[in-house]
Amino acid sequence: MKTIYLDNNATTRVAPEVLTEMTPYFSEFYGNPSSMHSFGGQVAKKIAESRAKVAALIGADPDEIIFTSCGTESDNTAIHSALAVNPEKRHIITSRVEHPAVKALCEHLAEKDCRVTTIEVDSAGNLDMDQYKKSLSADTAVVSLMWANNETGVIFPVEEAAQLARERGILFHTDAVQAGGSLDLDVNALNVDLMSLSAHKFYGPKGIGILYARRGIPFLPMQTGGGHERGRRAGTENVAYIVGIATALRLAYEEQQESNTRIARLRDKLIAGVLERIPDSRLTGHPAQRLPNSASFLFKYIEGESTLLRLDLLGVAASSGSACTSGSLEPSHVLTAMGFRHEEAHGSLRLTLGKENSEADVDYVLGILPGIVEKLRRMSPLFDG
Ligand code: PLP
Repeated sequence: MKTIYLDNNATTRVAPEVLTEMTPYFSEFYGNPSSMHSFGGQVAKKIAESRAKVAALIGADPDEIIFTSCGTESDNTAIHSALAVNPEKRHIITSRVEHPAVKALCEHLAEKDCRVTTIEVDSAGNLDMDQYKKSLSADTAVVSLMWANNETGVIFPVEEAAQLARERGILFHTDAVQAGGSLDLDVNALNVDLMSLSAHKFYGPKGIGILYARRGIPFLPMQTGGGHERGRRAGTENVAYIVGIATALRLAYEEQQESNTRIARLRDKLIAGVLERIPDSRLTGHPAQRLPNSASFLFKYIEGESTLLRLDLLGVAASSGSACTSGSLEPSHVLTAMGFRHEEAHGSLRLTLGKENSEADVDYVLGILPGIVEKLRRMSPLFDG
């Protein structure tokens, strides 16, 4: 059976070039980078090279790059550090549509000693900038706003939000995990102090992330131990994966322009086709202010999970929200924040394209999806059409 992977916001396949670069660092160059001998030295050199490569790609200096175990760790470290260096400030600003890596942490901190303001979004998923501006206060320790939403693909005006925070001396973190590989991650143009990335969203391996921390900002590590990563993240470096994330980011930059144009064309064909062929369907999120690969829909009268299962039987991998929230019976917090009722939000389907998808994949999905939705609707007690 034909299989089509349309869940690239959940994760991507490791690119062959990335795997090739990583492989020698499992078996051939296995020294500990902290060792004094040449086994360790050659590995330490490769980490330094990878760090310099990543830094150059995002407009940073090498000592501003901290390798972590994933996007979640980068997000958690950024927020914990900002609070730890500002013990007298207990206010956090974030948004209603963050990934659980930020959302759940902020909820936890709100139960402890922090005051958390969650900025609203409108029905297209755009950030309420007026509320944001009003909520910046002398007590704010950190702002954490995602750059691109993993469910809808909607892009937040991080540059402007970060500038407003900077003018007030407030640390600004962006979760750029979903933007990594698609958007230009220039940290100076973005004005951010802290930025999270994760390799598995741009054809690198799972289990390796980056935290960019601007030079000069106060920083306290989340885990203590050895002096790795200049004392900012203890633990022997995951050498092969560090090589992997640097290679994946380089490839993403090399391919970005061509890939974004091609993928956006496929996405637009997919969106137009779905809306035209399936009655009572709608696109969620701003139609233009979105990642080039992301399309997410609501189909009235049916459950997103049932659509997913039927698509899966016909060889198509999709999702009904983020990979981290699917599996729970709760509707997507992103869609409810955008004002959709629970029963509407339950009918969501996210199709996220990647560089391996072709026009034939889009045609195949457009061929089978209308029939799936129609069949499910006929079985639905809510449907009287
Ligand atoms: N932030 C966003 C926006 C994401 O989409 C994800 C992953 O789905 C994460 C954070 C967490 O990244 P990781 O899976 O590397 O922990």
